[in-house]
Amino acid sequence: MPPKPPSAKPESSARKASTRLNQPVSEPTLPLLDSHAMAEILETLERTYDFHPMGALTANNPYKVLVACVLSLRTKDEVMIPASERLFAVADTPQAMVALSPETIEKLVFPCGFYKTKARSIIDFSQTLLDEFDGKVPNTIDALLTLKGVGRKTANLVVGLGHGLPAICVDTHVHRICNRLGYIVTQTPDETETVLREKLPLPYWSVINTVMVLHGQQTCKPIGPRCDVCTVAHRCQQVNVKPRPVPKAAPKNKTQPSASKQ
Ligand code: SF4
Repeated sequence: MPPKPPSAKPESSARKASTRLNQPVSEPTLPLLDSHAMAEILETLERTYDFHPMGALTANNPYKVLVACVLSLRTKDEVMIPASERLFAVADTPQAMVALSPETIEKLVFPCGFYKTKARSIIDFSQTLLDEFDGKVPNTIDALLTLKGVGRKTANLVVGLGHGLPAICVDTHVHRICNRLGYIVTQTPDETETVLREKLPLPYWSVINTVMVLHGQQTCKPIGPRCDVCTVAHRCQQVNVKPRPVPKAAPKNKTQPSASKQ
């Protein structure tokens, strides 16, 4: 077979990344944040938000983390959490899962996005765990990536949250916010993971995904981030950021009603 012509992958990756960041890719104008500043940001964000429910849902059980992560792909937490609870009430081990039919799992996890595909993936990787891993969830990224439906994000969460080992789970929120803060300059989530592994102090590896998902969903949104209410705005370089317009304060009544009639 003739060799395939080289593709324009680097350029298209940069373009895709710039679309994700909603702005052209450019460098921060100030020096990159150091890890001391990043540690302060992550600790502030930890205090800002209620803890993500994935830990309570899965009780740090690697198999439950794996299944819940697969169900969470392209699905909001409000849908994924009750769906996972319904499924775990019926089956929470590979042995119990493969005893279910795809149709039964579909009904339990509906209306998760791609619920039919996910039901088959869950049965497929559960069978693989039984056949090749003695029914246990592996604790390395490479082994996890051999399972059907498992990508780097899920693999990192299973290693970090499920097994309690150092892992950095980089999703679109982590990638976007780390670049906006001016802590790194990267084009893709995979590159972000590589740079964070070199730069981010180990104690923050398992924290960064949890706090940045919450921050990305509630404040540092992809479009129109709410910089005016952000608790880490004083540390942020706002690289390629177009904040939402600051909401106008409600007009005060010129004549204040009396507090009480006596
Ligand atoms: S200041 Fe704005 S861009 Fe920076 S982290 Fe906060 S919300 Fe995101």
